[in-house]
Amino acid sequence: MVDVFDKRKRSWLMSRIPGRNTKPEIQLAKLLRAEHLEYRRHYNALPGTPDAALPRERIAVFIQGCFWHGHHGCSKASMPTTNRTFWRKKIRSNTKRDMRQARALRKLGWSVALFWTCRPLTRERLRTRIRQIVVRRMDRGSFAR
Ligand SMILES: [Zn+2]
Repeated sequence: MVDVFDKRKRSWLMSRIPGRNTKPEIQLAKLLRAEHLEYRRHYNALPGTPDAALPRERIAVFIQGCFWHGHHGCSKASMPTTNRTFWRKKIRSNTKRDMRQARALRKLGWSVALFWTCRPLTRERLRTRIRQIVVRRMDRGSFAR
C-alpha cells in the first residue's frame, strides 16, 4: 500500500535539491574570474551540464552536494534514519548518472574537475586541480592545443 503522506513529504524533500546559483557555484565563478580563466556557467551543451566549463582547457567543473551525490565516507552524506531504502536507491541512481556523465565527457575529450561541498573551495584548491589535469594530459601527450 502506498503511503500518501510519505509521498508528499518526499516530493517536498526532493524540492529541496539545491538549484542553480547556490553559494558554492557563485564562489566557483568568483575564483575562475580571479584566475583569469575563460569559463561558461551551467554549460548545457555538455553532458551533465557542468557548473562551469573551461573551453580552452576542456575541463568540466562540478561542485557536488555530498548527500545528493553520495560522497563516499563523508559525514554529510549519511543516510536519513527513515525511508532508508528510498534514499539509498535515489542516491545510487544519482551517483550512477554522475559516472555516466563523466564517461561521456571524457569521450568528448573533456576532463572532469570534481569538488564536494563539504570542503570550501579555495583559489589554491581550484588552481591545483586544474594544473594537475593539464600536466597529466601533457604527460600523456594528448594536450592538443
Ligand atoms: Zn563530502
